Amino acid sequence: MAIAPWSRLSADEMQLLRTTFWSAGGSRHGMAEQLGFSRSKANALIAGLVEQGMLAEAGLQPSSGGRRPERLQLNDGLGVLVGVDVGATSLDVAVLGLGLQVLAHVSEPAEVRDGPGVVLARVRVLIRQLLVQCGLDARKVLGIGVGVPGPVNFERGQLVNPPLMPAWDSFSIRDYLREDYAAPIFVDNDVNLMALGELWRLKRSLSNFLVIKVGTGIGCGIVCHGEVYRGAAGSAGDVGHICVDQDGPRCHCGNLGCVEVMAAGPAITRMAMEAAEGGESQAMADTLKAQGRIHAEDVGQASRAGDAAANAIVQRAGSLIGQMLASIVNFFNPSHVFIGGGITRIGPLFLAAVRQSVYQRSLALSTRHLEIQYTPLGAQAGLIGAGVLAMQESLRVRGVAP
Ligand SMILES: [Zn+2]
Repeated sequence: MAIAPWSRLSADEMQLLRTTFWSAGGSRHGMAEQLGFSRSKANALIAGLVEQGMLAEAGLQPSSGGRRPERLQLNDGLGVLVGVDVGATSLDVAVLGLGLQVLAHVSEPAEVRDGPGVVLARVRVLIRQLLVQCGLDARKVLGIGVGVPGPVNFERGQLVNPPLMPAWDSFSIRDYLREDYAAPIFVDNDVNLMALGELWRLKRSLSNFLVIKVGTGIGCGIVCHGEVYRGAAGSAGDVGHICVDQDGPRCHCGNLGCVEVMAAGPAITRMAMEAAEGGESQAMADTLKAQGRIHAEDVGQASRAGDAAANAIVQRAGSLIGQMLASIVNFFNPSHVFIGGGITRIGPLFLAAVRQSVYQRSLALSTRHLEIQYTPLGAQAGLIGAGVLAMQESLRVRGVAP
């Protein structure tokens, strides 16, 4: 059983650690205010935690007059977090500091359909290599967060009937990694982790927002009242199979015209191949000839260079996703929608098409203050989210592996 450095702290001390983590370099005064502690109580607690090596004072903040307040952060000497982001066709692993700074990171292509045995064996090797690179051993790991592209039973840390990765159904990622690490291991859907990453970046300043990931599939992370909302069975936000055209093509889920089969990465590639083979676009025909296939990114590049067929494809995908999004915006009334995943590499035209479609179809009341933008964390949103999950949950369970 793992003994986390914070396993013996009082409830007040734990609250202070959590607040420090979420406020990422906040001032001691701000921290006391957030917690509703008197200044003297906060100062005594902070002094105790600095003494025990839990917190560190990190330089000075720009002053608004008077004595300059010290910024507080978790003591990086306590250990590190490991974030794993398993995508449908990629694998990212990182070692992160307790302020979620990336200490070492590796990204490589992977095929999630190869099954958990193959993919997790690689994860295990990569974590070990990255720790060596950082000069650390397994005992320094305080928590591991893993994101996977499918619905997850969060309590059990298992995938439930995942359409993109059938071999992973009910496989225990936690048991597999537990052989190497005493630290607690947590598994969640990749889009939920992106939402958690954004929540941390925003220092919880927004309470109700959505993160849409468009890659091989389409999913939605929901932040409701400042928490990631997972639903009754963990499948909240599974928006990829919302129908946008009853006469559309058949989706791998068996239904017709799901937004995922019509507008996600593979659909964009398919439309581009058709345009290239049908003589509608010289640019994409050239790409096809040179590479043997066309990636969604190539469509974005052709579109930015003014290719009309590429423009039409980007418009169509953005418009269909906007159509789906309009319904959930009406239903949920978020203040912000952040779009992430491979689709962001296509560029601004896609975002413009999504916006136009949402504003056209949503009710005025739900879009009056709505902002739709690409996720500011970019390609690292999933990894940062995995780190946040590892830290948040490790604090919650006091470092004892569930
Ligand atoms: Zn479907």
